[in-house]
Amino acid sequence: GGAAEPPPRLVLDLERLAQVPSEKAGPLQRYAATIQSQRGDYNGKVLSIRQDDLRTLAVIYDQPASLLVDQLISWGVLDPDARRAVREDDA
Ligand code: C2E
Ligand code: C2E
Ligand code: C2E
Repeated sequence: GGAAEPPPRLVLDLERLAQVPSEKAGPLQRYAATIQSQRGDYNGKVLSIRQDDLRTLAVIYDQPASLLVDQLISWGVLDPDARRAVREDDA
């Protein structure tokens, strides 16, 4: 807890994401592609997503957000600093 610290930016590495087998990464790959389409943001190597999107993805993956973040870090899709996004409010 303590004083308000800005949450870490959640920046997906799209090149790494494309390399993860789709049987595991498929839902996230589709989610990211949808955001790119909605923004008209097609040429990026990375994609900044909302903190809220992490909660939505945790529901999609039926996992606590903290475990999902660990998985994305292990794939190299998220920076390890992203762990701070879930440490405080997700047990
Ligand atoms: P929206 O949520 O109604 O947002 C409308 C516009 O407000 C966005 O147009 C963007 O210009 C701006 N905007 C809203 N929230 C943010 C924000 O946190 N940061 C920044 N930089 N701008 C923000 P845009 O980008 O063309 O997106 C159109 C629609 O696509 C959004 O409408 C939303 O429905 C969807 N969308 C885009 N990116 C995301 C995303 O990362 N997550 C989710 N859940 N939806 C997204
Ligand atoms: P940053 O947030 O550290 O992003 C660094 C670079 O990563 C960006 O350089 C861009 O090439 C890429 N990047 C990050 N998120 C996305 C994304 O969702 N889609 C795409 N296509 N590329 C992304 P860029 O564009 O020259 O921006 C430099 C810096 O300017 C950013 O550093 C950030 O500090 C600021 N900036 C750019 N756009 C926004 C924005 O929508 N909101 C805010 N708050 N800052 C922004
Ligand atoms: P950002 O643009 O630097 O925005 C940082 C935070 O400011 C957002 O965190 C959100 O809490 C708030 N914010 C910025 N613009 C808006 C807005 O138009 N409406 C509202 N209600 N809040 C806003 P958040 O949601 O976690 O988003 C993180 C980053 O994801 C954003 O950084 C931006 O790079 C990207 N992003 C999120 N939603 C959109 C979107 O709809 N369109 C685009 N182009 N980028 C988005």
